[in-house]
Amino acid sequence: MSTILERLNEIKEILNKASEAYYTKDAPIMEDYEYDKLMNELIKIEEENPSLKTLDSPTNRIGGEVLTKFKKVTHEKKMASLADAFSYEELYEFDKRVREVAPNATYLCELKIDGLSVSLRYEDGILVQASTRGNGLVGEDITHNVRTIKSVPLKLKGDESLEVRGEIYMPRESLKKLNLEREEAGEEIFANCRNAAAGSVRQLDSKVAKKRNLDAFLYYYMEDDINTQEEALIRMKELGFKVNPNYALCNTMDDVIKYIEKMGELRPNLPYDIDGIVLKVNDLELHSLIGETVKYPKWAIAYKFPPEEVKTELLDIIYQVGRTGVITPVGVFKPVALAGSIVSKATLHNEDYIKMKDVHVGDIVTLHKAGDVIPEVVGPVLEERKEIKPFVMIDKCPCCGEDLKRYEGEADWYCINPNCSDKLINKLIHFASKPAYNIDSLGDKLCRQLFEAGYLNDVSSIFNLSFNYSELIMIPGLGEKSVNHLIEAIEESKKNNLDRLVFGLGIRHVGAKAALIISKKFKSIDGIASATYEELSSLDDIGEVIAKCVIEYFSNPDNIELISKLKMLGLNTNYIGEEVVEGFFTGKKVVLTGTISMPRDEAKALIVKQGGKISESVSKKTDIVIAGEAAGSKLDKAKELGIYIMDDKEFLEKIKE
Ligand code: NAD
Repeated sequence: MSTILERLNEIKEILNKASEAYYTKDAPIMEDYEYDKLMNELIKIEEENPSLKTLDSPTNRIGGEVLTKFKKVTHEKKMASLADAFSYEELYEFDKRVREVAPNATYLCELKIDGLSVSLRYEDGILVQASTRGNGLVGEDITHNVRTIKSVPLKLKGDESLEVRGEIYMPRESLKKLNLEREEAGEEIFANCRNAAAGSVRQLDSKVAKKRNLDAFLYYYMEDDINTQEEALIRMKELGFKVNPNYALCNTMDDVIKYIEKMGELRPNLPYDIDGIVLKVNDLELHSLIGETVKYPKWAIAYKFPPEEVKTELLDIIYQVGRTGVITPVGVFKPVALAGSIVSKATLHNEDYIKMKDVHVGDIVTLHKAGDVIPEVVGPVLEERKEIKPFVMIDKCPCCGEDLKRYEGEADWYCINPNCSDKLINKLIHFASKPAYNIDSLGDKLCRQLFEAGYLNDVSSIFNLSFNYSELIMIPGLGEKSVNHLIEAIEESKKNNLDRLVFGLGIRHVGAKAALIISKKFKSIDGIASATYEELSSLDDIGEVIAKCVIEYFSNPDNIELISKLKMLGLNTNYIGEEVVEGFFTGKKVVLTGTISMPRDEAKALIVKQGGKISESVSKKTDIVIAGEAAGSKLDKAKELGIYIMDDKEFLEKIKE
């Protein structure tokens, strides 16, 4: 018994940690299917040993902790979870249990939207409260954020008082754009649509949620003036809610399986993530007859799609040196087709990750795509392991050969040699990039080329390039015209605001947002350099880690020397407020729609910098609509009102004027 108890406690501990990361921090530390597998093992142990089941077992719990930063909402009716089925056999067993009580039951089958559940309360037709599921009994008040979701009616078509429940989700396109912006700003990317949606909804500032383009499907109607789940969906649609149209009434399990297979085929082409399908007994009267457990109703079940996985060989682990010196191990695989693309590489993140996954070079490994986007290693196929070549993390930089360092409390190893060439090249590339110092025409390729030719080394050398004019124009592929353009762009960039410089310096953990907060507060580079740890860490959104890294950066004499060189070279080192540069957009009211070739925030910042005003909706007062790819109703309205419309190409030209 003691070994069973040990295993039980071990699983409980892992599940508790994973639940906290998933529900409270919106940053999962394990794959869903690994979590589900452990949960099923726990259920089995508890079923076989009922005396070991405790009240605080994860098998009794719905969701996670309720964050104290939000007002609490007590749900009038519990917001339950759903029982899972991972195979058709489990679905047939569910059907058998249902038919023992309700022999003629039919099922309404719906898509299982991968987001987070929400409850909406309306009084006299007006939205008065939106809340998360929380622990099922008490949730968090997220009304301010839900009001920013365009498809959630603030006012119903009628004036009823009622409650509906459904799922808030982030469309796949929005996640792609958001992750691109976060990557460019040096911020952590979201692992999938669900985490991004949950992270967006649980923000105190509703401007964040508004920018994130969330959406919502409603699927539970909590009033009793209807008889079936199908009627519930129809009724909610009439009231003005967005209801997913891909539902079907199935009389038999054969129909259910056909529905699952059809939806499985549809899945890759849907604009949002689904992780399964939900079967609900259609006749609502049967629900109380069939009953419920503490955690879920017995009249419904979620069939979870298996993740698309492929097997391939891990040929090698190579190491990349980032601009901060961070060493990222990357798995090199025998190329394999997976969910629409050929995969030959995937990040292995860091030493701990590789050890946790227990993968060795030469292993056959299983790969899948997290959130259907990023290829990820699931683990080794142990039965196919030929020999054991345990993984040993390198201890010298793959580029310069210097010893690596691992900071306390961090999982990454760093090359701390300031002269490491990979680090220097990546620092230069980052400094010149659009979100940082934005030096037009100094792209990745040219940075690398000028570094290798010996014209660039540290960031200050960019501003000395003009001294090598006569040599630069002789470099193949450059020539007089482009060198003139480059020198002008470098000269122009010296006027940049302080936050661009701070972000450009590549201080560990300091992204574009943190750079702006710090610059606004301390006003000059000297102000930042002399800020104390307490002053930095007390700023909103600047945690202890960032504060520590800023202090560390400015305690290094090499960095102080670099900054005095930059000052001597004439770079602005003061925060100059919201700068306005006269240009095409000065005084114009501008609406952006569709996908353009630079991050939205960046485009907006450039327009505002010229004294343009950004507006979210098109009206007679709009001067210009910038319409990128897949522009929708805003473009139609602009055409209707005869407003000046420019495409992405014209925007890029005009913003330079
Ligand atoms: P769930 O996501 O498996 O299913 C229940 C939820 O489905 C409902 O609460 C509702 O929000 C949603 N849903 C979507 N479409 C629906 C529809 N048409 N009708 C009804 N409900 C619909 O259950 P859960 O309790 O939210 O989460 C448990 C799951 O979360 C686990 O199975 C696991 O996969 C994942 N999880 C993962 C980790 C991790 O570390 N990776 C940790 C905790 C939980």
